[in-house]
Amino acid sequence: MEPQDAWLAAYHQLQLQLDRATFETWLRETTYLGYAGGVFSIGAANSYARDMLEYRLYRQVRRVLSDVFGLEIELQFSIHKPEPQEPVRRRRAIDPADLPLFRELEQSAEDSSEPLHRRVLRPERPALPQSVLNPRFTFERFVVSNGNRAVYEAARAVADYPGSSYNPLVIYGGVGLGKTHLLHAVAHACAARGLNVIYVPSEAFVNDLIDSIRQKTTAMFRERYRRVDVLLVDDIQFISGKESTQEEFFHTFNALYTYNKQIILASDRHPGELTLLEDRLRSRFTGGLLMDMQPCDLETRIAILRLWASERGITLPLQILQVIAERAPNNLRELEGAFNQVVAKAHYAGSSVTMQSTEDLLERYERPRQHYLQQTPAESCHPEQVVAAVAAHFGLQPHDLTGKDRRQRINEARQVAMWLCRELTSASLPQIGELFGGRSHTTVLHGCNKIGEDMDVDPALERTIRMIYDSLRGDC
Ligand code: ADP
Ligand code: MG
Repeated sequence: MEPQDAWLAAYHQLQLQLDRATFETWLRETTYLGYAGGVFSIGAANSYARDMLEYRLYRQVRRVLSDVFGLEIELQFSIHKPEPQEPVRRRRAIDPADLPLFRELEQSAEDSSEPLHRRVLRPERPALPQSVLNPRFTFERFVVSNGNRAVYEAARAVADYPGSSYNPLVIYGGVGLGKTHLLHAVAHACAARGLNVIYVPSEAFVNDLIDSIRQKTTAMFRERYRRVDVLLVDDIQFISGKESTQEEFFHTFNALYTYNKQIILASDRHPGELTLLEDRLRSRFTGGLLMDMQPCDLETRIAILRLWASERGITLPLQILQVIAERAPNNLRELEGAFNQVVAKAHYAGSSVTMQSTEDLLERYERPRQHYLQQTPAESCHPEQVVAAVAAHFGLQPHDLTGKDRRQRINEARQVAMWLCRELTSASLPQIGELFGGRSHTTVLHGCNKIGEDMDVDPALERTIRMIYDSLRGDC
């Protein structure tokens, strides 16, 4: 078999073997460049794709290609941008030159020395909506961690090659993980290169649309949104259920996509979970690269706090950074809130930040949230009562919980008891720590956070806690 045919056959086999997103993202735009001495040269569309092929997909591609070719081969990847006329892209159905706007421009270009691209942006056109970008949300200020590295790299790739790396790029994940930060970072980077960028929270898109309908200027609305190079829409979960917005968005999306304009979307949920999203929009959203963001680990949160502190010209000891970082395990906005409180307090009090002042402040800042137990907070409950109820539930003695035994079952019961103490009593973290065998407040906090997180994903644990709570309500 000719090497080129072998590559083609392997390419199609890989298309079947790999999941769709992987194939579309990394392999779709590869090109056969040559074969010599047992080595296939393959072109990748950009450096990200090349690295991915080299580091993650090498063995799989090599195995398939070796099988097809009937010979153990090696691979060499290099960057090779496909020529525009190569039929590697899916979306070349419409030739821009056939569209009236471009024909008109081409004709008028004949008697003008001004380059065509300048004329596409004639000044009399409606201004782009103001993108309010936070100057602090840049790539430079984004701390990369395991939970967000892949998303960060995808955002970088999109900023470097808008319209040709992943389109659309959809970022989803819980609140306060850095989605908006990354969207702004892409917007900054693209705008700095002179591209037309619109960043809108989806609510602003909706308001803009409603205004235009009211003022009968929908044509202008379309014109504005459809002449951008990069459109970033944040919090798209808000357009769920809004039919006319979805309709308009679908058309905007298609218009931009047809011209290889970059679209980046952020959502607090997987698009599959947006129940009131039209199917055609959902499939558009999921047709590109879909990436989820994960919460940052403790080290990263400390690194972020360091960054914030250094920007304000202050240095905080690691111990204090750690206490703050432990307060907000899942949400960087909360982390920022906690950090701001600590710094502001020290500033107004004219004192320095100490371990004690930080603990005192954060203790109040994050008093029991009662988010789970909506019923009357049983403030009068005593920690001893909680310990007795938990011990009874787990078939243990109270001193098992307040002692040093670290066996898993006891440890888990202890953490449940700590969590309930925190939610139901007015005891502070250090007081709870004291009760549970002189443990530190960070141990208590860690236990409480763990139970809080586990409860979200473990219905059995939630039921256990509810039962203990019910048994306590009579007592307290
Ligand atoms: P989301 O849009 O996911 O709710 P944001 O982008 O608004 O979250 O992030 C919340 C805060 O945390 C912002 O102040 C942002 O600058 C900061 N932040 C988020 N991720 C990072 C990160 N990786 N490095 C530094 N700061 C971050
Ligand atoms: Mg956001």
